[in-house]
Amino acid sequence: MVENSVYLVDFGEGWARRYLQAGLGRQEEFHGLERLEAAFVTHLHSDHIVDYPNILTFGSSDGLANRPKPLQVFGPGPRPSLVPLGNSDAPEPPVLNASNPTPGLRDTTEYLYQAFANDLNDNMRDSLKPDPHSLITVHDIELPVGVAVDPNIDVAPRMSPFPVFEDERVRVSATLVDHAPVFPAFAFRFDTADGSVVISGDTNACDNLVELARGADMLVHEVIDIAWAEGLVPDPPSPAQQAKIEHLVNSHTPIEDVGKVAERAGVRTLVLTHLAPADNPPERWLEAGRDFSGEILVGEDLMELGVGVARRN
Ligand SMILES: [Zn+2]
Ligand SMILES: [Zn+2]
Repeated sequence: MVENSVYLVDFGEGWARRYLQAGLGRQEEFHGLERLEAAFVTHLHSDHIVDYPNILTFGSSDGLANRPKPLQVFGPGPRPSLVPLGNSDAPEPPVLNASNPTPGLRDTTEYLYQAFANDLNDNMRDSLKPDPHSLITVHDIELPVGVAVDPNIDVAPRMSPFPVFEDERVRVSATLVDHAPVFPAFAFRFDTADGSVVISGDTNACDNLVELARGADMLVHEVIDIAWAEGLVPDPPSPAQQAKIEHLVNSHTPIEDVGKVAERAGVRTLVLTHLAPADNPPERWLEAGRDFSGEILVGEDLMELGVGVARRN
């Protein structure tokens, strides 16, 4: 939240309930989402968008229809080609939605409107609710001119941060991060008069992210316990088990690396999030502090942290 406006990152499971529980919608005249100015989707893995349909369907009743202008949603564009097979010996799986198998956020949104067409048409005709297109404007984030990527070679070649969104309260910039084979996957930086917050999204330790986070007040970064990941599978693992482990190890940031990322970026506070596994004791995560000279915190649902004026309160 900046002043009285809310900026959301990702639509993970239960986001809407947590939004209200956090008090972001609680004001006399509000139903809930009136103060939500913009939302930013890091990547299209389902753990980050599984409750995106919530805002497309319930948003009208939950306050979006009371906003003076549409909610702005920014997220990944389409992947230019399918992800290669993880194991060349594996049989070719079927391709879902073969005419558009790797849609970006705009197309994903339209498919969701199709999936909920029965309900949405009912609501527009029977309850005279507005066309959801009039409440939410969805943008596929375009990479800067000159940044050419073959995601089957490198999903996050070195690049400088680029602007995504700006209003009178916040300037939002992004960069590509290394969550291979996902492309595009973004980290976002929010600069305000009070300070700056960077959200890593899902990524391995990534130089683009270090540049984006340079000097930020707060870096909210994902982390994985590699020892846990390696213990998940029997020895020897099946090809599917091996592929899963390789994804976890290669596309997330180990405890042993995340403190170094924060130290290189020179941030004041590191907040660990997207904890894998979710039930590690906090002491295990705080081992990342060995490599980081700033403040380190283990994120929890409904935790409220501030920068600038909010930090001093
Ligand atoms: Zn992911
Ligand atoms: Zn994730």
